[in-house]
Amino acid sequence: MAQVLIVEDDPQIRPLLMRALDERGHAVASAATGMSGLSAAVETRPDLVILDLGLPDVDGGQVLTMLRSVSDVPVIVATARDDDPSLIACLDAGADDYLVKPFSTAQLEARIRAVLRRVGGGRREQPLTVGGLRIQVAARRVTLDGRELDLSPREFDLLRHLAERPDEVVTKRELLTDVWHQAWGGSDKTVDVHLSWLRRKLGETAAEPRYLHTVRGVGVRLVDPTD
Ligand code: CA
Repeated sequence: MAQVLIVEDDPQIRPLLMRALDERGHAVASAATGMSGLSAAVETRPDLVILDLGLPDVDGGQVLTMLRSVSDVPVIVATARDDDPSLIACLDAGADDYLVKPFSTAQLEARIRAVLRRVGGGRREQPLTVGGLRIQVAARRVTLDGRELDLSPREFDLLRHLAERPDEVVTKRELLTDVWHQAWGGSDKTVDVHLSWLRRKLGETAAEPRYLHTVRGVGVRLVDPTD
């Protein structure tokens, strides 16, 4: 759920939008003019702004341009003007998405979700998960069924590389290139040794694999054993 700022002058539409988003669990604030919307966006730092283009004091497009010079808050432009040029101008000026009035609250909610998902990727990192494995890439932490694993840097890189492409067979050549940064040379044995250490830490063996499956003569793949 998000903190949403609605900048909309229409006295009928504004409370409707506020109620709809409030019912969906968002924390909602509003402004009825461009300038008050701009200062609210700067002061309250919402997660997302819904910006009407037809405002009484300043045109929404100008509000957007001013806002962009001080903030990268996601903005969804709402407009009754469905002419291409003004929408394209808004997207060029830094709007993340747009809605043409009249729109349903379901449409609005879908756009909000999509925009927050897109911008959220950079800010709040989603861990990689495969079965009971949970890998926090930036923090370089791994848990298996909630228990923290003590991996060496190389084991971590190896596991992460495989977890980024679950179910795919990754060749040892590729692992030597991407994990060991040995584009030429390097030995399969190096990979085998680290794989066996990693297996031990995952509590499995090559003979009875759960996550790490060797594909003889080709490479290795990480699978979700709970699938
Ligand atoms: Ca308006």
